[in-house]
Amino acid sequence: MPTNLLDFDAERMTAWFAQQGEKPFRARQVLRWIHRFGEDDFNAMSDVAKSLRGKLHDMATVSPAPTLSDQLSADGTRKFLFDVGNGNAVETVFIPEDSRGTLCISSQAGCALECAFCSTGRQGFNRNLTTAEIIGQLWQANRALGFDPSGDRRISNVVMMGMGEPLANFDNLISALRLMLDDNAYGLSRRRVTVSTSGIVPAMDRLAEACPVALAVSLHAPTDGLRDKLVPINRKYPLAELMAACQRYLQHAPRDFITFEYVMLDGVNDSDADARALLHLVRDVPCKFNLIPFNPFPDSGFRRSPAERIRRFASVLIEGGMVTTTRRTRGDDIDAACGQLAGQVLDKTKRTRRSAVLPVRVYSQAELRS
Ligand code: SAH
Ligand code: SF4
Repeated sequence: MPTNLLDFDAERMTAWFAQQGEKPFRARQVLRWIHRFGEDDFNAMSDVAKSLRGKLHDMATVSPAPTLSDQLSADGTRKFLFDVGNGNAVETVFIPEDSRGTLCISSQAGCALECAFCSTGRQGFNRNLTTAEIIGQLWQANRALGFDPSGDRRISNVVMMGMGEPLANFDNLISALRLMLDDNAYGLSRRRVTVSTSGIVPAMDRLAEACPVALAVSLHAPTDGLRDKLVPINRKYPLAELMAACQRYLQHAPRDFITFEYVMLDGVNDSDADARALLHLVRDVPCKFNLIPFNPFPDSGFRRSPAERIRRFASVLIEGGMVTTTRRTRGDDIDAACGQLAGQVLDKTKRTRRSAVLPVRVYSQAELRS
C-alpha cells in the first residue's frame, strides 16, 4: 500500500521523509505543494529533485476520499458528499457570506453521542475519520472552489461542525488542525478555525494544550435535568464541570471567548425563564450565544421554535448583556443545515443499513420538561 501523504502534518511528514533518508526541507516543499497549491501529481512538483519525485511516485499518494456528489443551493451554499468506504459517506458544506467563506467539516462517520435532536446522532457511530479524510475535505473543497477575484482563497474560515464529535477523534483532529494553521499548508489564523464540541471535558483540556483554536460548545439547555436528556454526554460531564472547563480553556486562549450554541426547540428549552437561567449559568465565562433554529428531519420528535419566540429569547439574553446571534438557515433546498447531515446518506447509497442504526430513546415533550 502506498503511503497517503494527506495523513501527515508537518511533524509526521518530516519523520516519514527522514525514514526515506530525505531532509526536512524536502518534507516542507512537498507539504507546500500538496496543501498550498493543491497538487496531487508528484511529477508536477517542479522544484523537487527528479529522483525524489520518482521515489514518491512509487511509494506515496495524495488520496482524499472520493467525491460522491457536489450540490449547489440557490443561496450559494455548496454541499459535498465524500465516500469514506463501506457504504459510509460524510458531508462538507461551504457557506459563502459577504466577508468570509466558511467550510463546515465532518470529523466522524456518524456519532456515538446520541443527542436527541441530531440526525447524525440517530445514525449511530460508524468510525473515526483519518487525518487524510478530515483535511481531505478542505483540500478537495479548496480545489473545487478556488480563489475569489481578489486572489484570496474562497475558504477563509473552517468550522468543525459537520458530522461527528471532533474531540472524540482527538489525535486525527489535532493533525488536521495543525495543517489548517500551518503557513506551508492553509495558513489560517487560530481564530478562524473553530472546533465545536458537545462538551467532552478532558478533551477540551487537551485541546487547550495542543492547539487552542476557537471553541464552540453545544449547550442547548440551562439545567442538568434537561441537558441530560438532550445531550446525554452531560450525564458524564455535567454543567458545573463544563463551565469550569470553558474557563480553563480561555486561560490558554486569552482575549478569546466561548461560543455557546443553543438549538431552539419549541416548548422544550426556549422559554424566557430558560434564557434567564442561561445568563446565570454562564456568568463567569466570557462568551457569546449563537441560537440555532432547530432543523427538522423525519421522526425527530421536535419542532423548531416559532420565529417570534426565538426573537424574544434572544432579546432576554441581549438585555442581560450577552452578545447573541441567531444562525440563518442556509442550504435548505439541499439539506445542508446543521444537524441534517447524514440522514440522507442512508437513502442515497441505497443500502439497508437501518439495522446498523442504534436505538435512540425519543422523549416526549412532557418527559423533557419533567
Ligand atoms: N458534535 C459537535 C459538532 C457537530 S454538530 C457538537 O455537537 O457540537 C454542530 C451543531 O449543530 C451542534 O451545536 C449541534 O448540537 C447542532 N445540531 C445538531 N442537530 C441539529 C438540528 N437538527 N438542528 C439544529 N442544530 C443541530
Ligand atoms: Fe454527535 Fe454533535 Fe450530533 Fe450530538 S450534536 S449527536 S455530539 S454530532
